[in-house]
Amino acid sequence: MLTAFISHQDCEQHNMGPEHPESPLRLVAIKRQLERSGLAQQLDHHSAVPALAEQILLAHSRYHMEKLAFQLPEQGIVWTDDDTALCPHSLRAASLAVGSVILATNRVLNSKANNAFCAVRPPGHHAEHELPMGFCLYNNVAIGALHALQQPGIERVAIFDFDVHHGNGTVDIFKDRPEVMVCSTFQHPFYPDRYSYLERPNIINCPLPAFSDGYAFRKVVEQRCLPALQAHKPDIIFISAGFDAHAEDPMADLRLHEDDYRWVTQLLLSVANQYANGRLVSVLEGGYNPDALARSVEAHLQVLAGF
Ligand SMILES: [Zn+2]
Repeated sequence: MLTAFISHQDCEQHNMGPEHPESPLRLVAIKRQLERSGLAQQLDHHSAVPALAEQILLAHSRYHMEKLAFQLPEQGIVWTDDDTALCPHSLRAASLAVGSVILATNRVLNSKANNAFCAVRPPGHHAEHELPMGFCLYNNVAIGALHALQQPGIERVAIFDFDVHHGNGTVDIFKDRPEVMVCSTFQHPFYPDRYSYLERPNIINCPLPAFSDGYAFRKVVEQRCLPALQAHKPDIIFISAGFDAHAEDPMADLRLHEDDYRWVTQLLLSVANQYANGRLVSVLEGGYNPDALARSVEAHLQVLAGF
């Protein structure tokens, strides 16, 4: 198994201030853990290039892009909502995050890698068609899915989102696109509570009450997500890989552990093997305890890389 690891140093330049949990240290912790364990040497490393405007426009309006560019400060920080901010480097980082997913998708579709992980920030799954929110500016995974659909032989895509927060942005973008299935497990009631009750054949929302553990998570994935994915028969699978449902995460109250991430990764890889020739692209979303995040990403990548 060849797993591409795609990132860019400048994703660490996006900085919303020393108190903000979505910190550059998250990527530092992940890279340090992979170096320390030796797993980094087993991965195929690539540095992203910034996305083109027309790629970002696959999922967002021109107004969304222009408004962010207008708000971008020359120095200091500007808040776009209560918890999302721009610094002078934020849009370059956001564009590199999207560019990472495009590169990952191309490498997987061109059989240069079996699967890929994008270690990027800012995250993306809360960004709606015309609204940045929840630390997210551009919806990285949605743009990757729409880019994949432009490639020959890709007619159906599945996105699996196991971040503790509901991926409202991804649902907003795909609610009327039946060729894209969005499966989400998330704590509920909880932020952001937009679209969490939406029921569509291609939108599989799996709310979990606070303090749910790995057993409850695995049960809902097996009972609701797995049959839906098997019926959809995706040509490629994307993962919105947020690790903030971890028991040690400070932001939320689910109780997952590294083994649960190992389990769900194995399950998604077997669905990809069954329907999609193994094609799978995983994209970092949340995860705010740097240590638990780094261990969880390592577990996720061990499975992707076949260790
Ligand atoms: Zn999250």
